[in-house]
Order: sequence, then C-alpha cells, then structure tokens
Amino acid sequence: MHTAKRLAPYRRKRDFAVTPEPADVPASPRSARGAAFVVHLHHARARHFDFRLELEGTLRSWAIPKGPSLDPAAKRLAVQVEDHPLAYARFEGRIPAGEYGAGKVWIWDRGTWTAPGNAAQALQKGQLRFTLRGQRLRGEWSLVRTRFAGRQPQWLLIKVADAAARAGDVADDVPLSRWGKRRGAAPVGRPHKAVRARAEAQARG
Ligand code: MN
Repeated sequence: MHTAKRLAPYRRKRDFAVTPEPADVPASPRSARGAAFVVHLHHARARHFDFRLELEGTLRSWAIPKGPSLDPAAKRLAVQVEDHPLAYARFEGRIPAGEYGAGKVWIWDRGTWTAPGNAAQALQKGQLRFTLRGQRLRGEWSLVRTRFAGRQPQWLLIKVADAAARAGDVADDVPLSRWGKRRGAAPVGRPHKAVRARAEAQARG
C-alpha cells in the first residue's frame, strides 16, 4: 500500500495545528544495520507502550498495555493501531488535552530491527519473527496475530528464548519516569534497588 494511504488514518485523527506530533513524511536514510524500531511510553488516559517497526515507509504500530517483556513466558497483548510517519521514531513530547492520545510520550527504547525474508508478507500472514537491536530490547522476537475479537487486530508480542531473554519484567524493573526526566542519560539495563539487591545477594552466594 502507498505510504500516504497507509498514513491517512494517522492524519485523520490529529490536528497538526495543535499537537506537536510530526505531520510530515520525510524519506528515511535506511541504516545498513536494519530499519528503525522505537518503543514509546505513552501516558495517555491509560498508560501503555507503543511498539513501532519501520516497514515500507511507515512505522507499523502496536499499543501494548503491559509493555514488552524479555521473559519468553510472558505473551504481551499488542493491539495494532494506525501506521505512524517515520519521523515519529524521534518524537517525544506532550500531546495537548483534547487531542487524540493526549498525554506525555517518552521514547522508552530505540534501535534497529531485521527479519529474514519478506517482513510485509509475514505480517500479512499474521506471524513475524524478527531481531531487535535496541538498548533494552534485544534478540529474537515474534509477533503473532490472534483471533481475539476486537475493533483492531490483536497480536501477541513474545520474546523468543535466547541469550537476550530475561525473567522478570523490564517494563517494571527500570525507573522509567526518571529516565524520562533525564533524556539521553538512560539508565538502560540498570535495575532498580530491589532487583540490584537480589542480584548482589546471589553474587555473594
Ligand atoms: Mn499510544
């Protein structure tokens, strides 16, 4: 599908005279290491994460209520939402009250992703296996479309068991709000006190 057509729902929902979100669709300088991915933490009416993969000129997007998990046992519901423009991968800010998705948006993770074969076709079929190279999310993942009833397609985001898999919940273990206030100085992979204490106790044997 043509980029402008894929982005029509995104544009329709927003008033770009009011929201600071990007309206333009700049060409993306494609990285040799793969296309971009970004995870936003979105403090909208219900706090959630937005998972976005660059594909064929737009960011395919899913809203994940509980956020991604590095634990292969945790299958996270991911509701597919409208494609976003590529420029959204760099967006952070506050969407004004009354606008669609009103609330603060922080970048929670970013990096590149790759998939063997034709990713667009795999998504069409409802099953994508891919690799993330982010600061928090790494390794192999899969997105599987379910038959759950819903207004929008309901998927599951699942961590494949590999060296990047972790027990626990990365979405809870990291002090996200502090990271948000200190952009650029991300305490990536630095677990909060309780987790650190547990790790130190284990190290002491
Ligand atoms: Mn959102």
